Amino acid sequence: MGRGPAYAFGVTTFNVRFLGCKVSHVDAHEVRERLLADGHVERDDAEIAVVNTCCVTNEAVAKSRKEAARAARTHRRVYVTGCGANLAGDAFAGLPGNVTVVARRSEETPEFVAGDVGAIACVQADARLDRVRAFVKVQDGCSFSCNFCVIPLVRGASRSRAADAVLAEIRRRVAQGHREVVLTGINLGCYRDRAAGYDLPRLVREAGALVERLRLSSIEINHVNDELVRVLRETPTVSRHLHVPLQSGDDGVLRAMGRRYSVATYLRRLAPLQEEFNLTSDVIVGFPTEDGHAFANTLATVRAAGLTKIHVFPYSPRPGTRTARDDQVTPQVKRDRGARLRAASHDACVARWRTKVGRDDVVLVDRVGRGYGDDYSPWLLDPATPVGELVRVRGAAVLDEGVLAA
Ligand code: SF4
Repeated sequence: MGRGPAYAFGVTTFNVRFLGCKVSHVDAHEVRERLLADGHVERDDAEIAVVNTCCVTNEAVAKSRKEAARAARTHRRVYVTGCGANLAGDAFAGLPGNVTVVARRSEETPEFVAGDVGAIACVQADARLDRVRAFVKVQDGCSFSCNFCVIPLVRGASRSRAADAVLAEIRRRVAQGHREVVLTGINLGCYRDRAAGYDLPRLVREAGALVERLRLSSIEINHVNDELVRVLRETPTVSRHLHVPLQSGDDGVLRAMGRRYSVATYLRRLAPLQEEFNLTSDVIVGFPTEDGHAFANTLATVRAAGLTKIHVFPYSPRPGTRTARDDQVTPQVKRDRGARLRAASHDACVARWRTKVGRDDVVLVDRVGRGYGDDYSPWLLDPATPVGELVRVRGAAVLDEGVLAA
């Protein structure tokens, strides 16, 4: 392309973007760090683009494809990586010849992309990530097989990183200046380092001693056991926030999804955290067996569990799953149910935010004028507040997007 300054032989310019969840974010940053370590230079108008894709819904695949096509127009070479790249079928077929689809496990992808781009000697160690919070992947893959879910097919079975490697990475992130660490995994509760005797509660306890603020990205309700609850409550640096996918609040739909818990279990296991923790969740609307009654049960469960922010996913059949050929609920009904759930979620968020008016909180400023409190409630701050700082603030009012700091 020949734009911008010339770099030494072998050095190329690149940028990395991702779609989807926090694990996709981590995977994208692993590619980014690998390219930086090889001496390549990150720029907006780069020669090479890496697009780490998502396939959780049809819409996510379509967005991923669009992003890859857009990148192909403005970059000399594009690598399509991540969940979407591993999806069976031809989601990325027909893209221009400068697009390489890297259908590899997340552990192999940075190496493959770096090898293809061409490593050079000039090493730039420990490049600072551009976010104030560090997502540290401790586990990948899932050995369950929920009937609708494509993730085990694209990411493989559950496996965990060694605890000493995780703790070393956390120390490194803290030394780089990250104020918050988020332990991230596809099925975090499956975390095990058997050789060293670690499970998730032990990892949380030890990681919590290293950081100013620690969060878990998401955890399945079956892993929210007494030991984990105790550790979450007893570790002062653990953020008072937990994201626990519900998917449906109807026992019949949960069974049809193959989710291995009942509504009663979900409510019982969250009960000890309800007072203190901000509980958020994922819900699928329009699953094939979800009728009006089942959806009403979901709304009731969301309220009974005290959930605030709900990420609503309209069901879409995923190739290779047990429900790949089932999609009975009409798009209009999915839209209506999604809107009702989002409205309930917004009301619950606002109710929680109101409790913060007149009270103090510590907010991590992650963008100009914005940040998140200890329980991951969004705050609106004076734009002069320095990004990357943890600041003590007092709630003055509630706006549509969060709590306004005095
Ligand atoms: S939805 Fe089920 S199969 Fe998919 S990643 Fe979660 S636990 Fe695993």
